[in-house]
Amino acid sequence: MRIDLHTHSTASDGTDSPAELVRAAASADLDVVALTDHDTTSGWEEAVVALPPGLRLVRGMEMSCSGDGEDGYPVPVHLLAYLFDPTHAAFAAERERLRDERISRIRAMARKMADAGLGVDPEQILADAGPSVGRPHLARALIAAGVVESVDAAFAGPLSTRSEFYVDKVDTPLDDAVELVAAAGGVAVVAHPRARSRGRLLSLDHVRELSGRGLSGLEVYHRDHSPADVRVLEDVAAESGLVSTGSSDYHGTNKSVRLGEFTTAPDQFEIIESKASGVRVVSG
Ligand code: AMP
Ligand code: FE
Ligand code: FE
Ligand code: ZN
Repeated sequence: MRIDLHTHSTASDGTDSPAELVRAAASADLDVVALTDHDTTSGWEEAVVALPPGLRLVRGMEMSCSGDGEDGYPVPVHLLAYLFDPTHAAFAAERERLRDERISRIRAMARKMADAGLGVDPEQILADAGPSVGRPHLARALIAAGVVESVDAAFAGPLSTRSEFYVDKVDTPLDDAVELVAAAGGVAVVAHPRARSRGRLLSLDHVRELSGRGLSGLEVYHRDHSPADVRVLEDVAAESGLVSTGSSDYHGTNKSVRLGEFTTAPDQFEIIESKASGVRVVSG
């Protein structure tokens, strides 16, 4: 069984359409794939319709949150939410607020760049993006304008949090997010909790606290985690009774990671499936 629980499509900042993504998942010999676009469920339907025979689809999302950093200051956290009811009103409203934050933030960053003569068009970027725009869309525009040569170079330069062009967005407090996912019948797993290349880290004490208040798991096996980070997370998961997952965080050509490069053990996936009461895993 090959299970990959974290992928992105053109519904957010991936480059495969949801239909292309499930076909690529079948070609990569996956048995289970989760579609987890940032702050939107809008790719779900197309993925369900295109689901190849033999592949199972977990409908999910990666939610933009804010948790306690190890240094006590707030830190961005990504929360994977699986198999929740998309019609739960409060959760749907919060997703919409997050997408609106994404739009105003990318518009503001692109505006600053345009004003500085970088040759990007804020409204064109928003028009070309899907329902959930992100910095990778801006990276593509910077490449097209000849400002940088790659997405990585864009993130190291004009898109970095230290850049003069950087604008923050207001994400969901992590505790509220875990509560919303549970209220909608979903299962919450913290994505890449030790991805230190993105900046400061989430406090493990905050993770332990949340394990008693509705958090179900940690994404332990991920390209951005060192072997030492993996051991730390395995220990926290074991002592807190959390599920351990592994996943690629595939973004098509916006990242070099391959589908199925990291995977989740079948027994861990079974726990996630058994805890969920929002929507079912769909079989192709
Ligand atoms: P945003 O959601 O707009 O803040 O942009 C962050 C997104 O960009 C995350 O989903 C990451 O997957 C992606 N990202 C972060 N760093 C990089 C990088 N160096 N190269 C490609 N994508 C990145
Ligand atoms: Fe992303
Ligand atoms: Fe993420
Ligand atoms: Zn992701």
